[in-house]
Amino acid sequence: MSEQAAPLRTRPTVLVIDPSASNRALICECLGQLPEVRTMATGDGNHALQMVRETWPSLILLDTTQQDINGIELTRMIRDWELSRIDTGISPWTPIVFLSSVTDEDTLAQGILAGGDDFLCKPVSEVVLLAKVRAMLRISIRQQEICEIHRQLKEIANLDGLTGIPNRRHFDDTLTIEWKRCIRNETPLSIILSDVDFFKQFNDIYGHQAGDFCLKAVASSLSESLFRVEDTVARYGGEEFVAILPGTDANGAYAVAERMRQSAVDLCIPHERGINGRVSCSFGVASTHPSTESAPQHLLKTADTSLYAAKSAGRNRVILNIE
Ligand code: GH3
Ligand code: MG
Ligand code: MG
Repeated sequence: MSEQAAPLRTRPTVLVIDPSASNRALICECLGQLPEVRTMATGDGNHALQMVRETWPSLILLDTTQQDINGIELTRMIRDWELSRIDTGISPWTPIVFLSSVTDEDTLAQGILAGGDDFLCKPVSEVVLLAKVRAMLRISIRQQEICEIHRQLKEIANLDGLTGIPNRRHFDDTLTIEWKRCIRNETPLSIILSDVDFFKQFNDIYGHQAGDFCLKAVASSLSESLFRVEDTVARYGGEEFVAILPGTDANGAYAVAERMRQSAVDLCIPHERGINGRVSCSFGVASTHPSTESAPQHLLKTADTSLYAAKSAGRNRVILNIE
């Protein structure tokens, strides 16, 4: 399994990390008393790290006397990895409970400082171990639920309520990220701005509900005209849409815009004041090789100028400007 976003779990999982096979077996047997819990175990520090990355367990029980990577060091590595996985807004967190035969306070303090959450002295009574596991799982499951809700809210915050495609906020964020990526990769970046033709009149003739329906259909047709995963189309505002095409040059972007134009016309939405009696869109394309001396806003401005030219030239067409 590759490293990925936190899996939505049906059963909490506990990862037991202990160099002694007999200790692992004992702990797993004890955890068997919690039928809802799935248990995994390893005696190898590197393997444990890999399991954490791949499965994001609900709880880790860690013996501090690991041989290859010491338990404290392993804890630091797990916490570092968690902090690096902040792309969803909240980094994952798995409670780590140390099981140790060393009882001195310094080791305890060191373990907590490294990112551990609790410390149990071996030999641990079954009652205490099960009680601690239950308590930690309660916190961990709540935390995973919060992460999931946060992820869903972020997703909603980036989508346009009417059309369901990414919104202006998502577009702004994506443009900033892709601009930097194209500078690093020394690849071109193109933008397509589009605007529904005579849409005010469409609303006036057919009503706002029909107008909303039309915008949804146009948004879908524009989205479906993009074939690369790295391409994004967003609602820019009102009846305007914008596409970002990283790694695509001017000719490629022109071809994509032409495909978008055709697919909007092919919806065959009647518009008695529209071009050829149908809803259509005009497109302004701009393309550049991003650099630190230029800014994405400039590219947008160029695309806007192209769009204006497409409108002036009669609408339902694509005009391209190269920077
Ligand atoms: P042009 O061909 O020059 O683009 O003319 P236009 O009529 O499309 O342009 P204009 O900017 O005059 O009008 C845009 C219209 O889009 C006006 C506004 O009421 C409508 N509009 C913007 N957002 C929405 C929406 O969410 N739903 C509906 N139904 N209409 C919207
Ligand atoms: Mg407009
Ligand atoms: Mg318009």
